[in-house]
Amino acid sequence: MRHSNISIFVPHLGCPNACSFCNQHTISGEKTAPGTGEVRRLLGEAYNRIKDKKNTEIAFFGGSFTAIDKDYMLSLLKTAFEFVGKNGFSGIRISTRPDCIDSKILDTLKCYGVTSIEIGTQSMCDDVLSANNRGHTAKDVENASRLIREYGFELGLQMMTGLYKSDAGKDMLTAQKIILLKPDTVRIYPVCVLKNTHLARLYNEGVYELSPFDDMVNLCADLLLAFESAGIRVIKCGLHASNGVEDELVAGYYHPAFRDLCEGRIYRNAMDKDILGSQDKRFVFAVNDRCMSKARGQKNENIKYFEKRGISVSLVSDKTINKYIAVRI
Ligand code: SF4
Repeated sequence: MRHSNISIFVPHLGCPNACSFCNQHTISGEKTAPGTGEVRRLLGEAYNRIKDKKNTEIAFFGGSFTAIDKDYMLSLLKTAFEFVGKNGFSGIRISTRPDCIDSKILDTLKCYGVTSIEIGTQSMCDDVLSANNRGHTAKDVENASRLIREYGFELGLQMMTGLYKSDAGKDMLTAQKIILLKPDTVRIYPVCVLKNTHLARLYNEGVYELSPFDDMVNLCADLLLAFESAGIRVIKCGLHASNGVEDELVAGYYHPAFRDLCEGRIYRNAMDKDILGSQDKRFVFAVNDRCMSKARGQKNENIKYFEKRGISVSLVSDKTINKYIAVRI
């Protein structure tokens, strides 16, 4: 069953510090925090429009929800809670920082219909967290995750790849540590360096260098596969194409269909592994019928990749084959 969100952005409120990569106004596309009147109007419209309410959550995204002014947070929750329940939406999703979670906060969230909590994890390496001014440690993520799961909320963890002082090894280690925390969902954000951020300054000074785009696609393909193989749903891979991101981009890994690139790469890597060492020049692979275009890659780039090496690859569909698997026939 497909789940959807009604997203309400609460930009850059309640943050005790400024993370190196963060320019929340750009990421959320919103400049001002919504009042309860605005939230009620948005949810009222959504209530009239959306038929499948049981598979729809109200989502407060953008800032650190549990760190915003308490009265404001409660007013947003109370307003949203009016639309949750028997004939309403399935629940409320929020995102916050790991060091802004404790039992008292979770009791409050439980009272007002919150069902899912996403934690901005970014990295599980303390040196990377510190270099990017996150203001929390990996231990904070572990503690918050444990508490959230004990309370029975759905747990989501968000990681960022390619941060200052990170590398592919540290990003993979982060993914492995995240898998051990058993989240229900994960979001993978390859870093985007936005104007007016600390990262942009480091980048412009030449202190912070980015690995090639193609390497990042490979890394995120491996992460996607690692999470999904562990039974963890990856609900986002790549930054959302909201207003202004492209205008504000200084450097980084923004692509409007980043996940498609990664999924295509998973197939290419799988086929490449099979082809490696073979003297044959013609290969046929079977893939799930729903994944044919992913296996071909964007604009047939996987097929062209092999063609450049003098190798002909053709694909046939087979309903019985699982996602991300290519079987040589
Ligand atoms: S905690 Fe989140 S919203 Fe706050 S500065 Fe960091 S990334 Fe931005």
